This record gives sequence, structure tokens and C-alpha cells, in this order.
Amino acid sequence: MFEEQMESSCGCPLAAAVTFHLGRQAGVAYRGGFELGLTAIEFRVFQTLVLARGRTVGAEEIVASVRGDVRVGCEAAARQWIRGVRRKVGSPDPVRTIFCGGYAWNPAFAVSVCDRPAAL
Ligand SMILES: [Zn+2]
Repeated sequence: MFEEQMESSCGCPLAAAVTFHLGRQAGVAYRGGFELGLTAIEFRVFQTLVLARGRTVGAEEIVASVRGDVRVGCEAAARQWIRGVRRKVGSPDPVRTIFCGGYAWNPAFAVSVCDRPAAL
């Protein structure tokens, strides 16, 4: 278990346990005071879902967000990455699976987003 923090590495205050924080430039993500410990790929997937703000993100879009190009037939890769993200963001699960559509962030889970660089 990660040690609870009051401030993110991007210098943002971390408050309620139910609130997420996404530090885009710093490349960090928190749930409450806990850093999620996402891999580089998982961070991109997480960021793509969060910034879509409830819109359904298809497997191709998830793969494109990680690899920078669009490929078809990558549902298995997207599914694996989503599984990793879900394991780390914890419960209750903010990621919805859209039947035959992809994945969507549940907007009931608030996320604050910043573009501050990581503090030294
Ligand atoms: Zn921040």
C-alpha cells in the first residue's frame, strides 16, 4: 500500500479520498492521497479516459493514445491495459465497460487535472 500524501508531486493539494487528480505534465495520478503507480502505458490510458469526460473511448482510440497510430484488431491490448488501470485505481471502479463500444470514465468520479511540472 502506498503511503498517504497531502500533496501531489506536481504540488497540488490532495483532499477527499474519492477525488482523483491527474497531473498531465508530471505524469502522475492520485486517488485521494494515494499515488496510483501506473505504468507509462496505463497512465496514457487513464488520461485518455479521464479527458474524454464520460464519452465512450473505443479500443482503437485507446491503442492510438498509447502508440500514436490507429490500428484495428487491438481489442485484446486495450482490454489488458484497462485491466491494469482498474487494478490500480481500486474500488469502486470508475471505469465503465460499454458493451460493443469500449470504455468510459464514470463522471460521478471527480477528477482534478493540472499541467504543472513535477516538483523537484
Ligand atoms: Zn497537480
